[in-house]
Amino acid sequence: MMAYYGAIEAGGTKFCCAIGNEHGDILEEMTIPTEHPEKTIQQLIPFFKQHDIAALGVGSFGPICVQKDDPSYGYIMNTPKVEWKHYPFIPELEKQLGVPVSFTTDVNAAALGELTKGAAKGLGSCLYITVGTGIGAGAVVKNELLHGHSHPEMGHILIRQDESDTFAGVCPAHGNCLEGLAAGPAIEKRWGKPAKELTQEEAVWALEADYLAQALMQYSLILSPERIIMGGGVMKQKQLFPLIREKLAAYVNDYVDLPPLDTYIVSPGLEDKAGMTGALLLAIQAKRNA
Ligand code: ADP
Ligand code: ZN
Repeated sequence: MMAYYGAIEAGGTKFCCAIGNEHGDILEEMTIPTEHPEKTIQQLIPFFKQHDIAALGVGSFGPICVQKDDPSYGYIMNTPKVEWKHYPFIPELEKQLGVPVSFTTDVNAAALGELTKGAAKGLGSCLYITVGTGIGAGAVVKNELLHGHSHPEMGHILIRQDESDTFAGVCPAHGNCLEGLAAGPAIEKRWGKPAKELTQEEAVWALEADYLAQALMQYSLILSPERIIMGGGVMKQKQLFPLIREKLAAYVNDYVDLPPLDTYIVSPGLEDKAGMTGALLLAIQAKRNA
C-alpha cells in the first residue's frame, strides 16, 4: 500500500503544506497565512489528517531548537514574531498528529531537497542560500543536515563594507551583518525603491554581488561544499550570478581550488519547491527511523 507523507514549509508570512509520496514527489499543496500559532496549527491539522500521513517533515523559520536532549526541543526560539516566541511548535504537531515529525531550518530543508532531487543531485554536499526578506543558508553533507549545538545562521556573518557604502544596515541584532546589508529590505531602504524596480541600476547589483561574494568566500573556505545554490526573491535578478562569480574569484585569488564557477554557483533546480521537497524527504527519513 502506498504511504503518504506530510511536509510543511513554515515561514514568517505563510505556511505551505504538502502531501507527497515515498519518492519525495509533491502531490497536493495548501497554503495558509502565518497567524497566531494555535490558529495556524488548527488550520493545518485537518489537511494532514485527511490524508492519513505516515510522518511529517518541517522546514521552519527560526531560530528553532534542534537539540534532542534540550527541554525546548522543537520550540521556536528568539523570533521577532512575538506570538511564536518559545512556542512548542514541533511537540504540538507531534501531539496532534500522532506521527513522527522531523524538522530543520527552511534553508537546511532546501539544501536537502536540492542535493537529493535538484541542482546538486548526484553530489555529496551542497549549500543553499536564500536572499529574500532575510538571508539564511543551510548545508547538507551526504544527506546529513548540519546541526550542532544549534543550526547554522549563516545570514548573520560580518561583512567588510565598501567604502562608498555608509548604510547602517537593517538587522535588528547586528545592523550591518550580511542580512542587514544585503537582504531585500536592506536594498529597498538603501536605494529608496523595492529591489525589483532597480534592475537597471548597475551600482545596486555591483554592491550586492560584492557582499554576497564575500559571504560565499567564507562559506567556501569553512565548509567547502561541492555546489552553492542561490535562491530567494533577490536572486531573481539573474545579472547577479556572473557578478558574484567574478567577485568571488577575485576575493579567493586562487588560494583554494574552487569547482568551475559556472557550475559551482547556480539557481535552484527545484525552483521554489526546494524547501518543500526537503521537508518531505525529512518525513520519509523520520518514518524509516521510527
Ligand atoms: P521570503 O524571503 O519572505 O520567503 P522572497 O524570497 O520572495 O520571500 O523574498 C522577498 C524579498 O525579495 C523582498 O525584499 C523583495 O523586495 C525581494 N524580491 C522579490 N522579487 C524580487 C525580484 N524580482 N527582484 C529583486 N528582488 C525581489
Ligand atoms: Zn544580523
